[in-house]
Amino acid sequence: MRSEASLHRPPRRPWAWLWVFAASQGLVVAVWWAIGWRWGLPLLLASHLAVVWGTLRPGSRLFSPVLSRLPGGARTVWLTIDDGPSADTGAILDLLDAHGAKATFFLVGARALARPDAVREIVRRGHGIGNHSFDHPSAWFWALPPAAMRAQVDRAQAALATTAGAPPRWFRAVVGMANPFVGPALARHGLTRVAWSARGFDAVEPDPDRVLARIERQLRPGAIVLLHEGARHGRNPETLARVLQRLDALDYRAVLPDEPDVRA
Ligand SMILES: [Zn+2]
Repeated sequence: MRSEASLHRPPRRPWAWLWVFAASQGLVVAVWWAIGWRWGLPLLLASHLAVVWGTLRPGSRLFSPVLSRLPGGARTVWLTIDDGPSADTGAILDLLDAHGAKATFFLVGARALARPDAVREIVRRGHGIGNHSFDHPSAWFWALPPAAMRAQVDRAQAALATTAGAPPRWFRAVVGMANPFVGPALARHGLTRVAWSARGFDAVEPDPDRVLARIERQLRPGAIVLLHEGARHGRNPETLARVLQRLDALDYRAVLPDEPDVRA
């Protein structure tokens, strides 16, 4: 059995990619010089495509470690609820209680400062919290330079430590895209990046049945389920209710990864 500590994998050498990338560009120059552009140019494009691919793919480990599912074969799932706190938080907490389910809320720092009572209530009811940036720059998070990325993580960490009473240990990238500068920002706080293995696009999809159908297709023991709160269509709590009913019917338990019986 693995120890709980093994799930927490903050980046240990967050700048290692820089040396690999520098070496690859040295190779490109050497090849271009020795053989010519017919080999040099494709090599250059391939090395840059690798950076783009490693940034845009949510489960990519190219630049920093990421947790995409829980190990072990127990019929447990980790519910992760992004983008709060919001006007939905109270209803969501009541639904989780009604089903005896636990979840981790990946909170946006500025929204936590605006609704500190909601953050405290999440913690009081035994749920987990994670860092989901300071102000959720959806369009540009993937392209943020090092200082801006660090500010997003630092400021959210401070806001959540203040409102929740302790800093989070989990981080989720905005829209799931983590560029090479996310790792160094996380390493400063011992944060572990979390992706997901099941999602139904409930941030934009209003129909709970469609969301549930998508999630159910990806449901496995140890699945990390991505859900949202506060979407404009207003149906996130309804969707969560359907997901929780389905998990009960399929005999899955929604637990936090820090609980010792997760992989029993
Ligand atoms: Zn988000």
